[in-house]
Amino acid sequence: MTELSVSSSTRLNVLIVGGGLCGLATAISVTLAEHKATVFEAASRSHPFGSGIQSSPNGTRILSRWGMNEILEPVITVPETFQLHSLNGELVSLRENFAQEVVKKYKSPFWTVHRVDLQTGLLRRARDLGVDIHYSSRVSKVGNEGTTIQLTNGDTCRGDLVVIADGTWSALRLELFGMTANPQPTEYMCYRITVDVARVHDQELLEIVNTPQCRTWIGPGGYVVGYPIRAGRLFCLQVIVKDNSNQGDLSLGAITEELKLRFEKWDRILITMLGAVQRANKWRLVQVPPPPLETSPGEMYVLAGDCYHSLLPFLAQGLNMGLEDAATLGSLLGNVTSTTQLPKAVVMYHKLRTARAMRILEETDAYRENLQLTNGEHEKTSCKAQDLIWSYDAYKEAEVAYLTEL
Ligand SMILES: Cc1cc2nc3c(=O)[nH]c(=O)nc-3n(C[C@H](O)[C@H](O)[C@H](O)COP(=O)(O)OP(=O)(O)OC[C@H]3O[C@@H](n4cnc5c(N)ncnc54)[C@H](O)[C@@H]3O)c2cc1C
Repeated sequence: MTELSVSSSTRLNVLIVGGGLCGLATAISVTLAEHKATVFEAASRSHPFGSGIQSSPNGTRILSRWGMNEILEPVITVPETFQLHSLNGELVSLRENFAQEVVKKYKSPFWTVHRVDLQTGLLRRARDLGVDIHYSSRVSKVGNEGTTIQLTNGDTCRGDLVVIADGTWSALRLELFGMTANPQPTEYMCYRITVDVARVHDQELLEIVNTPQCRTWIGPGGYVVGYPIRAGRLFCLQVIVKDNSNQGDLSLGAITEELKLRFEKWDRILITMLGAVQRANKWRLVQVPPPPLETSPGEMYVLAGDCYHSLLPFLAQGLNMGLEDAATLGSLLGNVTSTTQLPKAVVMYHKLRTARAMRILEETDAYRENLQLTNGEHEKTSCKAQDLIWSYDAYKEAEVAYLTEL
């Protein structure tokens, strides 16, 4: 068994399990707080997957603070308008100046981006900052109250704090927090398709896919959201429906045929989109049990990202919550100059993030129930949730909490 050494001329050695979006974000935040971050990722190399992702102002204000604007600028889209439609295509509301409204109100923009481009950008920033990233390094155990990790090949590594960011199917969460239940399947099936804009010839659809916008269709039978990614070269569509059947055939052709049937009574533009589909995926949404309310004193590990609070995607907050986790931890660790101060920061992190996660879980549940409401009512409730979520400034909240000692 080899003991891997992590050299640090700075203050703390922070070991991060998982090199996904949240693990990389945490590495950036911890390094900017002048500590040493080392990432252990199970995969043999960076392998981002997925399609579109939305970053609302609570997330973009963090990315901007980390110096990500220049890196992401070529690949993000800033939706200028926001349209809400009923499932049959009737326009319910139009926010024509959405981009300006958002910046005016929340002091930070709303972005859409390909998940792969975002992860590649975070990886680049982490590397520029000198973060060590070990691939093919699956962590099997966290020991000594969180100061040591063990890899499946037997190697060990000692640090001052371990951040577990190993995703929805986290094995370490089960081991450390006794959260015995695995993610539970929900009644929702999720489809993700990407439309190749170069293959679109229908005039009406061309106008839609060539306009930077966020377009949502909502009704009792389903929830659809579409927006451009890859600086407008692709248009991504997320479809969520209640469906308890088996996943069935997952080939591109089969998923497209299935969606054709689903879209039959909906806005006809959705069927037109299927004519230019580049990729399609389908999976059952799962829900992770709520995060643990207490940590034991002296434990030097924390959860971050989806393994902490995997959310159903109705409010598109999975990524943003992971960024908030990373920012909160970075802000709190910015006050820590020796390991004796670490327990206070760990307890505060947990209190702040569990409270926030529980609140967002409540809002997600309320939003999901309100999908049944008539359109006007639905809009009112979603604006309330939006204010609460988008106005959150993770750095400010953590600074205030640290100063007032909660
Ligand atoms: C298709 C799709 C669309 C989404 N859209 C949005 C959106 O619009 N807005 C939004 O805010 N969120 C969205 N989300 C959610 C968002 O992508 C997730 O919340 C986010 O990826 C979580 O990041 P994470 O780092 O916690 O987990 P992951 O990205 O799952 O990363 C976990 C990493 O840990 C590694 N790992 C696992 N076990 C170990 C181990 N034992 N040792 C070492 N490494 C390990 C894995 O290989 C993986 O790289 C979407 C998710 C999906 C799948």
